[in-house]
Amino acid sequence: MEFQRSGVTSGTTVTFVIVDGWTTTVASVGDSRCILDARDGAVSVLTVDHRLEENSEERDRVAASGGQVGRLHIAEGIEFGPLRCWPGGLCLSRSIGDMDVGEFIVPIPHVKQVKLSNVGGRLIIASDGVWDALPSEMAAKYCRGLPAPLAAKEVVKQALRPKGLRDDTTCIVVDIIPPDHSAPLPAAPKKQNILKSLLCWKHSHNSINKLAKKLSAVSTVEELFEEGSAMLSERLGNDSSASKTTAGLFVCAICREDLAPSEGISVHAGSIFSTGSNPWQGPFLCANCVDKKDAMEGKRPSGVKVA
Ligand SMILES: [Zn+2]
Repeated sequence: MEFQRSGVTSGTTVTFVIVDGWTTTVASVGDSRCILDARDGAVSVLTVDHRLEENSEERDRVAASGGQVGRLHIAEGIEFGPLRCWPGGLCLSRSIGDMDVGEFIVPIPHVKQVKLSNVGGRLIIASDGVWDALPSEMAAKYCRGLPAPLAAKEVVKQALRPKGLRDDTTCIVVDIIPPDHSAPLPAAPKKQNILKSLLCWKHSHNSINKLAKKLSAVSTVEELFEEGSAMLSERLGNDSSASKTTAGLFVCAICREDLAPSEGISVHAGSIFSTGSNPWQGPFLCANCVDKKDAMEGKRPSGVKVA
């Protein structure tokens, strides 16, 4: 509330990472990408860029909620720059804090959870200025072999090279390493295949048993969970366990408050999500949380108005 009163209308992206043992969970809103460089050299992206230019699903969602998607008009018939959402002119489809844009810009995160193999890996989290200049694979490659703090500096340095633009070029590097620190840093940027790097590893550690363990663990980043929809009906699905208790009472799928069977409003009410083959119409929401659902999906008729 205090922040709202201060009248600051600009917003931000958020990339939130929890590392718990080998399990890494990333929740992100906007376009501050997080990539994973596994020890086998495979680079995967753990976030989704919520950019109208590159994300057709988000363009459809914004348009369906009443937003206008288009480029900046600089003169009659002349358009400029990336696709933006109007009113407001933001080129992101999701963010937090932007108070001068339409309600279809929502703060609902894309969430992904992966389990690393027991050799660990490296996370590179950076804001859009870095990713505008560097593809994910290049960012990973440039900083292999460097300890995390130097790696982050190197990624930013490489990103500044083409144009020298120091705009939104923040980078954090996190190494997830085994407790015994036995694994070497990811290999330096040489042309190495997996087997070769493992052989190098063997050479430096000279232990066949350990090598066998490493071999069995290679290239096994396991995907545990992914959900990016802004639509609550899709996030909750048709799962009857989500809001039905064993006693036959219902609880709101968001706030967990008890609901009489007649009070609950189906999360699928008014959506095209098919419930035809399933008589279960839930999960259900209380009236308060239906408002939250509308806001979450960008359909609240009037958001916070800024003078
Ligand atoms: Zn509720």
